[in-house]
Formats: sequence, structure tokens, C-alpha cells
Amino acid sequence: MKAMRLDGVGRLFTREVDRPSPGPDELLIRVEACGVCGTDRHLFHGEFPCTPPVTLGHEFSGLVEEMGSSVTGFKVGDRITGDPNIACGRCSHCIEGRVNLCRNLCAIGIHRDGGFADYVLVPQRQAFLLPQGLNPMHGAFCEPLACCLHGIDIADIRSGASVVVLGGGVIGLLTVQLARLAGATNVILSTRQASRRKLAEDVGATASVDPTKGDVGEQICGPQGLVPGGVDVVLECAGVGETVQQATRLVRPGGTVVIVGVMPQGETIAIEPFDLLFREINLRTSFLNPFTHGRAAALIANGSIEIEKLISRTVSLDEASNVVSNPPAPGDVKILVVPAR
Ligand code: NAP
Ligand code: ZN
Repeated sequence: MKAMRLDGVGRLFTREVDRPSPGPDELLIRVEACGVCGTDRHLFHGEFPCTPPVTLGHEFSGLVEEMGSSVTGFKVGDRITGDPNIACGRCSHCIEGRVNLCRNLCAIGIHRDGGFADYVLVPQRQAFLLPQGLNPMHGAFCEPLACCLHGIDIADIRSGASVVVLGGGVIGLLTVQLARLAGATNVILSTRQASRRKLAEDVGATASVDPTKGDVGEQICGPQGLVPGGVDVVLECAGVGETVQQATRLVRPGGTVVIVGVMPQGETIAIEPFDLLFREINLRTSFLNPFTHGRAAALIANGSIEIEKLISRTVSLDEASNVVSNPPAPGDVKILVVPAR
């Protein structure tokens, strides 16, 4: 079979490898689609720890081809999505139910072979059924959606709430949709690219703002802004210092900021603790997808999330290393690797 393997920093090649065999509790999945994520680029550049040589790809879905002897609840031909983050279940964090903080976290596509390949192995407890009739490209969105769901859970959005999402990549565009589903009536997205602002409004944002056209704080929570006085919840989905700082200014007193975006390790920003305290801002962070993958699969299965508009293009395994090793092109939202192409 073909697989795109990271042999070391900057060394990413698609080549023939042996097709793996499932262990007793594993499913062998024929990959239908696997999304390219910013993390794949970080892994390529050595900015995120992993264990090469390894096949990348952690946003995959596909069909069950073969099953280990002790697998129950699945059959050959089932469409599944895999939760790539495998917690050990034994460390102190796992025992407290904080599986995303597992001390021995092992992720498919980072620490063990992933979905940029014709086939991938998935332990059965990481597998979630998807409908036979689902568009095969859509299952690959379960993993990013599951991460966004954790952010939404932490944000504790109530019906009628006002929400700002900062950053209009796939995470921001999924988060906009989840905020609407959670009952927010005002959902404002701030992102620089006009095509993404339009996309955000197409998928449910009630307004969008261009951060390069004047102060975002003024545009949103100033006296003439969209929500004077500030919003109930801000979800930072850009992963840049400027938007983390903006988030604390856009939220109303007593409101909640959730940081979902990942800033480069070691980078710091200035914040004013007095302001956070005096306005009793809830400053929270959201990491990975603890216990949210099943709900993400359910939302995608029943068509609650607009996926089609987020797919910029599909590429073959042979074209994939070019996509991962280069920065995203303007306008691109999600690129899917489709092994059958
Ligand atoms: P992405 O495509 O890079 O999206 C982030 C977008 O933010 C950029 O494309 C950019 O779009 C926008 N942006 C940059 N500077 C901005 C500014 N000053 N104001 C407003 N928008 C700005 O990445 P993604 O895949 O959507 O992921 C978003 C972040 O979430 C990343 O940091 C990623 O690492 C992180 N993430 C976190 C988790 C988790 O578990 N917490 C899971 C997955 C991903 P424009 O060019 O349109 O401005
Ligand atoms: Zn653990």
C-alpha cells in the first residue's frame, strides 16, 4: 500500500510500505479521506514532537476492511471515523477523567501510523460508526469538529448568548456553526480574508468583521459596535498573540474567553491581570477532544454541520507531501487527501 511517511524533520515521502495487520482489538480501515491540518505542517518542520519514522494524518475516516479477533460491534464495510488520541487509561489524569491530559498520550498520525495512507489501524475503542450514506469526504471532519466541541462545552454557551470567534480557518468556521447550534443568537467572526468572512456568514455567522479595517474592539463592543459593552463568550481560534489580547477586551464583565488556538511554544503576550480581575473574566483553555468524538460524529452524520463549503480541494497521496510541506494558499480552508484518487 502507499503511505506518506515522515522520516525526520523536513523529510516527507509517499512510498510503498507493507499493509499492516490488525491486532486482536484493532480495525484495519481503508482510508476514504484524511484532512491536512496545521499540526501536520508543524510536525514536518519539527515544531511539534513526534516519533519518526511515522505515517502522518490524524483526521481520517474510511471503511472497515478487516477486524481483529476480539472486535465486536463493527462489521466489514462499516464506515468509521477514528479518534486519533489514545489515552492510557491508567495515569492519574486518565483516572480523573481528564483523558486529554494523559501523561502517555499516543496519537494516531503523530506517534503511531496515521491516515495519509491506503490503510490505517484503529483500536476499536477509538472507532465511531458513521452512516453508509454519508459523503465519504465528510467523516474526515470529525476530529477537528470534536476539538471545537470541547471548546464550546468549556464556553458554556446559553441560548440567546452573544459570541465572537477570532480566526476564520476551519476551526473558527466549525466553531461558528457549533455556537449557533448551542443557541447563540449573535455570532460574529473576525478574520482578515474576505472569502472567509463570506464563508462564515454562509455557514451561520450573523456578522463578520475585518480586523485590518480599524480596531476590532471598537467594531464589536464600542458604543457604535455590533454588541456595545462586549459579548458573553469569545473563542480565540487563530492562535496568534494579537487575537488572544483582543479576546480579553471583547468579552463583557463576567464573560468567558476560551483559547482554542495554539500559539508557538515559548511565545508570550502582555495581559492586564487587574482588568481580568476587576471584570471577573473567565479565562479558559481548550485542548484536544476529550469524550467529544462520538458527538462530533453524530453531528456530521445527521448533517447538522455544513461541511461541503469548507472543502477547498482534494489531492492524491502523491500530491500530499507538497501540500503539507508548503504554507496554505490564500483562500484554502481544508484540503483532503483521498488515497483512491
Ligand atoms: P488556520 O487555518 O491557521 O486558522 C487560523 C486563522 O486565523 C488564519 O488562517 C487567519 O485567517 C486567522 N488569523 C490570523 N491572524 C488573525 C488576526 N490577527 N485576526 C483575525 N484572524 C486572524 O488554522 P485552523 O486549522 O483553523 O486552527 C486554528 C487554531 O486552532 C490553530 O492555532 C490550531 O493549531 C488550533 N487548534 C487547536 C486545537 C485544540 O485542541 N485546542 C485543535 C485543532 C487546532 P485570515 O487570513 O482570514 O485572517
Ligand atoms: Zn493516561
